[in-house]
Amino acid sequence: MHIILMGPPGAGKGTQATNLVKRYGILHISTGDMFREAVKEGTPLGKEAKSYMDAGKLVPDSVTIGIVRERLSKPDCRKGFILDGFPRTVEQADALGEILKDNGLQLTAVLNINVPTEDLIERAVGRRICKSCGHSFHVKFNPTKVEGVCDDCGGETYQRADDSADTMKSRLSVYESSTRPLIEYYRKAGVYKEIDGRQDIAKVEADLSAALGA
Ligand SMILES: [Zn+2]
Repeated sequence: MHIILMGPPGAGKGTQATNLVKRYGILHISTGDMFREAVKEGTPLGKEAKSYMDAGKLVPDSVTIGIVRERLSKPDCRKGFILDGFPRTVEQADALGEILKDNGLQLTAVLNINVPTEDLIERAVGRRICKSCGHSFHVKFNPTKVEGVCDDCGGETYQRADDSADTMKSRLSVYESSTRPLIEYYRKAGVYKEIDGRQDIAKVEADLSAALGA
C-alpha cells in the first residue's frame, strides 16, 4: 500500500497518518523526516540540503527529489508507506512517478482530507492551548470547564498568535493554489480520493479505510 496523504494545515492529517500506520503496518514518510535523516546521515544530498537550509534558502527541487529518491529506494518501503508533504508540485509528482516506477512500486491512492477554508479558520481561531501542559482545547468544540483554565492541570490557556484568522487565510491560500494542480493531476490518473475532514476523527478514519478498499 503506497499512499500520498494530502490535507490543508489543521485538517487532522497527523492524527490520521498515525492511525493508518497502526492499521496497515506501513511507514509514515514525511518530507521533514526525510530531510532530517539525510542531514543526520551526512549523505551528499543531505549535506547539500543542509547548506541551503543553513543559508536560509529554499532547497532546490533537484535536491528534494534526490532525497525522496534515496528514501523510497530503501528496502523498508516495500512494506508500504504514507507520503506526507511530497509532492507539492506537478513537477515533483512527475518525478515521484519515475521514482516509483524505477523501484517497481505502484501508487495505491492519493487521499485528500478536505476541510473548507471557513471551517479551518473557525477551528484555528477557537483553539486554546494550556501554557503549562500544552493540552489543546476549543472554545466551541472542546471547551474548558472554566474559561481560560486548563481542565487537566489548572494552568492558564491562551490563543497562539498563529491561530488568527489572517494568518490562517494566508497559509490556506498558499496551500490551495499549490495543491489545486496536483489534485487535477491525480484525478486524471484515477487515484485521487477525497475524504470529508469535517467529520469526527473516527468517521474520517473509516472513510480513509473505505477509500483504500480495506
Ligand atoms: Zn494544562
